[in-house]
Amino acid sequence: MPSIHPQFLIRPLVRALHPYVPGEQPKIRGLIKLNTNENPYPPSPKVLAAVKAAVDGRLRLYPNPTAEALRQKLSRFHACAPTNIIVGNGSDELLALATRAFVEPGKTVQFFTPSYSLYPVLAQIHGASPNAVPLAESFALPSVAALRAGHAWDFRAALTFVTTPNAPTGCGYGTRQLDQLCRAQKGVVILDETYVDFARENALALALRHPHVIVARTFSKAYSLCFLRVGYFVGHPSLIGALQKIRDSYNVNGLGQVAAAATLADLPYYRRNFKRIIATRQRLSRQLAALGFDVLPSQANFIFVRPPRFPAQAWLQKLRDERVLVRWFGAAETKHFLRVTIGTDAEADALLQAARLILR
Ligand code: PMP
Repeated sequence: MPSIHPQFLIRPLVRALHPYVPGEQPKIRGLIKLNTNENPYPPSPKVLAAVKAAVDGRLRLYPNPTAEALRQKLSRFHACAPTNIIVGNGSDELLALATRAFVEPGKTVQFFTPSYSLYPVLAQIHGASPNAVPLAESFALPSVAALRAGHAWDFRAALTFVTTPNAPTGCGYGTRQLDQLCRAQKGVVILDETYVDFARENALALALRHPHVIVARTFSKAYSLCFLRVGYFVGHPSLIGALQKIRDSYNVNGLGQVAAAATLADLPYYRRNFKRIIATRQRLSRQLAALGFDVLPSQANFIFVRPPRFPAQAWLQKLRDERVLVRWFGAAETKHFLRVTIGTDAEADALLQAARLILR
């Protein structure tokens, strides 16, 4: 038996790593869960039927290794070719693959702060150098001119992540400004459009126009399929082909492929839900503002709010005591805010009632 402590069998980089922390999955019954941006509405009945049929008939078989039928349908949806698309085990898997495919260890992975807190972890896992650059005033996307003047931004970064609409702020960035930023970058740019179905604009055209730009999408949020883990990238066949080479052979489970394909056959169902969520978002934003919250304008299925009277971290606990779970990020630039997922109208009412109680 080796006398060495198992700690020292682990690569120093992994030993020192602070992993990504997902939102809590509480075991408390009756808790209103507004902390992980899940969709409050279930998938379409047609999706449920397709998944049930696959459970009954196909569990013993391997799924299609390249998610071929789903990529065909996605390519028709986005008016591109199946070679422009790779499907992943959630878009998280694809973000990790991109880091491995496009970034030489030691080179730069770049992103704005605040944005998705997975990006720096992916950089660290890969032994790349994270470059976190603060957003402009009010969490706006800095102009290319401002980035050139500021010196912190690296126009030669091997990989740049831009979340749009951004998380956790909810701010949507204009396609023209994103186009300018993409044109200024020498390395790969991933526009992470996880929340784009709740926004006014999308930048998919940039992934089909510029060979170094990829758009990331997911079935998790807008399409109510977090549980099945299906995300995808749209981009130039060269970049997509590189990712295809390094992924696991059967990276996307069969039920996920079936559910996502059935989703694309029932889009009107989902568009009705987007409208409902956006309407709830507008109402909740107005009513929280009336209670004294600073509410950032949101283009996503969550809002980023600065609560009155008590520190945001105290609000997190007070709301939890009232059985409402929201998310708080303790970093310097986000610690005064709470991120609140848009649930059903009844869940919004419960949150408002809890807030009134806390303020009484
Ligand atoms: N990007 C952003 C900005 C996200 O918030 C999330 C969800 N946490 C993801 C990507 C990953 O989504 P999924 O892996 O469920 O497709």
